[in-house]
Amino acid sequence: MRVLVVEDDPLVAEGIRQGLSHINMTVDHVTTGEQAELSLAEEAFDLAIVDLGLPRMDGLTLIRRLRQRGLGLPLLILTARDTLTDCVDGLDVGADDYMTKPFRLPELIARVRALVRRSHSLSSAVLAWGGLQLDTARHTALLLGAPLDLPGREWSILEALLLQAPNVVSKDRLIQSIGGWEGDLTPNAIEVYISRLRTKLAPGNLQIRTVRGIGYRLDEPALG
Ligand code: CA
Repeated sequence: MRVLVVEDDPLVAEGIRQGLSHINMTVDHVTTGEQAELSLAEEAFDLAIVDLGLPRMDGLTLIRRLRQRGLGLPLLILTARDTLTDCVDGLDVGADDYMTKPFRLPELIARVRALVRRSHSLSSAVLAWGGLQLDTARHTALLLGAPLDLPGREWSILEALLLQAPNVVSKDRLIQSIGGWEGDLTPNAIEVYISRLRTKLAPGNLQIRTVRGIGYRLDEPALG
């Protein structure tokens, strides 16, 4: 899962990055609304965290412009302007939620998860597919009731596939969503992770299908 942080305070941005990376989210950071517009137009993100007090174009203007362009990703306002008016204005122009600074990281993480869930029309923090259950709140995975060990990137790839299932997730999208701008992720590395996941999911009769030239998708779980 990939989050764009639009924040001109480097300490706040770094705090968010550390907190979200800890739960295997990929975080990219820009300091202006203009950079945010470009990044969101060109690349795939699952959510953006937007500061209201930004240099030049402020956060409210950014949010309004993104929605006018038809960008539908969840937008979470994180602002020091703790007057109710600013937050209400933010929701009015198209933000999905807001938090005021200083904020508690666990609450921010919970809200990010909830917003992404809602954007995929999921009601629970547990992503389930056949005998597989990925609990995104507890960060635990079970296959046929037994704990499944999924190191960072294997978790991220499987989560991306589950969120889109049964649709195809392109390899480019996986690379962007998991590597981010700092990422060293290559198409070959993705293939290695997919192959490891296939081995781990085999006991549950779950298949990751290669869609040639495009990417991967989870097959409908076999019945019986
Ligand atoms: Ca600011």
